[in-house]
Amino acid sequence: MSTRRNFLKLSAFTAGLFTINKSKAIENIARSNAKQIKPVVISTWSHGMAANEGAWKVLSSNGTALDAVEKGVMVTEDDLTNLSVGLGGLPDRDGHVTLDASIMDEKGRCAGVAFLERIKHPISVARMVMEKTPHVLMVGEGAQKFALDNGFKLESKELTPEADKAYKEWLKKSEYKPVINIENHDTIGMVALDAHGNLSGSCTTSGLAYKMHGRVGDSPIIGAGMYVDNEVGAACATGLGETVLKICGSYQVVEFMRQGLSPEEACKKTVERLIKKSPNYKDVQVGFLALNKNGEHGAYSLQKGFNYALYTPENGNKLFDAKSFI
Ligand code: ASP
Repeated sequence: MSTRRNFLKLSAFTAGLFTINKSKAIENIARSNAKQIKPVVISTWSHGMAANEGAWKVLSSNGTALDAVEKGVMVTEDDLTNLSVGLGGLPDRDGHVTLDASIMDEKGRCAGVAFLERIKHPISVARMVMEKTPHVLMVGEGAQKFALDNGFKLESKELTPEADKAYKEWLKKSEYKPVINIENHDTIGMVALDAHGNLSGSCTTSGLAYKMHGRVGDSPIIGAGMYVDNEVGAACATGLGETVLKICGSYQVVEFMRQGLSPEEACKKTVERLIKKSPNYKDVQVGFLALNKNGEHGAYSLQKGFNYALYTPENGNKLFDAKSFI
């Protein structure tokens, strides 16, 4: 009995400590509110430059972060020369382009679509799932039917000439050996803070080139490829999705920021966590981006070669190299 009483006392004490720590961390983030940078948008890889321009049109006219992160990545989805996002993407090993995307707003509303074929803007389908259904994830034929029922058009199933050429070349050996930074870790992930001080995030990809038919990566999974907590910050991921899924990567970045870490430290600690859990980490590339409630940003990747585009009112739109573990 007395042991139980002690246990209860201890639990109450620990819970109290946790509440104090948690509110201290959030206070830390809020304290520098005076120098809050907004609006701001950050997105993965060099294709983030054009995507940021799309997002900035919304952000600079007082629009919402949610509209900005949708419109921003639609620019990349529209670009049929892009081999890793949208319908111009490299196919799976059976020759199908299958798309994954997710979106999340400041109210914690969110949704993803996965294994979606022949739809130009999976990010907008994800947004429609979020806004029009009680669901958080829709996949495959069901997601495509939902899109078509809601006014999306069925696009051709032909590969673009560039993707077709690359696929035919790959078929000669049919080996699955991703080459770091080349084959094919170029999802677009985007997080933004709008002029009203609200955060949102988006993520869209054709996934790993030559993946198995039916494979789904981290990008459409809330908390893995992207996550937003309007009290704290937002994060997104790119790279080998399987490794990001195993550690709920973007959620982990946000949770590290909640504990008071800067966005860059939070990305770095998450990469370190991923390394611990991935024995083959030397053959893997993963990069994280983060933005906190004050508009401070950070990035970190496992290997060299990850870059990101940052658009702020002071410095305009610029491409930066992320620091890396290796
Ligand atoms: N994360 C994506 C996936 O695993 C790949 C990428 O970032 O390009 O599907």
